[in-house]
Amino acid sequence: MSSESRSTGLAFASLPNPFDTSERKAFRETIQTFVETEIRPHAFAWDEAGQVPWDLHEKLGALGVFGFGIDEKYGGLGFDDPFMRMDYAVAMSMCGAGGVSAAVGGRSISLDPIQKLASEDIRSHVLPEVISGRKGSSLGITEAGAGSDVASLKTTARLEGDHWVLNGSKTFITGGMESDYFVIAARTGGPGLTGISLFFVRADAPGFSRTSLSKKMGWWASNQATLYFDDCRIPVENLMGQKDHGFIQIMHNFNYERLGLVGCALGMMKVCLEDSIAWAQERETFGKKLIRHQVIRHKIADMSAKIDAVQSNLWILCAQIDAGHMPVAEICKAKSFATKALEFCASEAMQILGGAGYLRGNRIENVYREVKVIAIGGGSEEIMKDLAMRQMGL
Ligand SMILES: Cc1cc2nc3c(=O)[nH]c(=O)nc-3n(C[C@H](O)[C@H](O)[C@H](O)COP(=O)(O)OP(=O)(O)OC[C@H]3O[C@@H](n4cnc5c(N)ncnc54)[C@H](O)[C@@H]3O)c2cc1C
Repeated sequence: MSSESRSTGLAFASLPNPFDTSERKAFRETIQTFVETEIRPHAFAWDEAGQVPWDLHEKLGALGVFGFGIDEKYGGLGFDDPFMRMDYAVAMSMCGAGGVSAAVGGRSISLDPIQKLASEDIRSHVLPEVISGRKGSSLGITEAGAGSDVASLKTTARLEGDHWVLNGSKTFITGGMESDYFVIAARTGGPGLTGISLFFVRADAPGFSRTSLSKKMGWWASNQATLYFDDCRIPVENLMGQKDHGFIQIMHNFNYERLGLVGCALGMMKVCLEDSIAWAQERETFGKKLIRHQVIRHKIADMSAKIDAVQSNLWILCAQIDAGHMPVAEICKAKSFATKALEFCASEAMQILGGAGYLRGNRIENVYREVKVIAIGGGSEEIMKDLAMRQMGL
């Protein structure tokens, strides 16, 4: 199968990227080949087992996928490329189990804050370990009582001599059971979004403990942890950036997380299209192949149209970012639009596969269970639309 056809599995359903370059093409082909040969054959087994082998982190680290936007002196690539980031997100979500992508990718949302806000000592020790895949890191914002409403978070940090003392807990933290390092948001000032600071916390800090969330609907191959801070003492220099302005300082970080989730949604939609067509070409009902029934043909055409729309939008957003803009409202709209399009594709694909789609061990069953984490994680649909409206001055 050529690399072009692998991007959707179907050459005729694949729009050419007008912004493609030979470097992007080479990167995309490398990642697609890696996913096809090293991940896809194992993805279901890893998902059922609830984890990926640690050497997968290291193999991906060696391909450079965690190093976008990170300085070479910290082990990063020394450049950023939104198109390459998205090609990676799409390819990984086509492996058959979104949890595999989450298991290795959980670290990504903590890397930019570490590079921009941590002390030079932390940066120079931690970033090379995490980017190479030798160690894991996580971003801890969400609490049991504060998800969308970040401003209401209750975890506190108070200064005692040359230490910060953290009390409270975080939950739903991706990779939290295995990560060695955490970026944690805690209240240091008054109520609201100002008053929140960021801290770098090592997993061996006194007063830190964690338990795993279990029995999730999807993303089985990744772990989500509840983190506990019980008079957890960390050195004073582990405050990241400006006190009381931590959250404001990482707002930019969420744009890439959301864009990445659009990429994930797109990859999952491509899985829906690819597996629906393959099944419809094989399965016969009432004397003809499913693909020859008009209703099924229309479902496939609708899926394909939504993929074109999400793909085109993603390329335009990447081009904007590449040109130095950060279209926040458009990214928010793209995320909520892509998750709705994904919901449609997952439902239609499951319908086309019929009973076969309901069985564990095929990609459609997996996609169907993992639609909602894309719609909720990284800013839910409702919050995305609200933020887009505010960004539009309304
Ligand atoms: C698998 C998984 C992994 C995650 N990983 C991480 C992680 O690594 N780090 C981290 O910090 N967090 C993580 N999260 C948490 C995630 O960011 C939150 O779940 C998300 O922000 C939503 O918060 P909530 O679940 O508390 O929902 P709530 O905020 O309680 O919202 C519930 C529902 O109400 C809606 N709603 C809320 N406010 C409004 C409003 N004003 N108007 C209209 N509707 C509203 C929401 O859209 C949502 O549909 C993860 C979550 C999941 C499920």
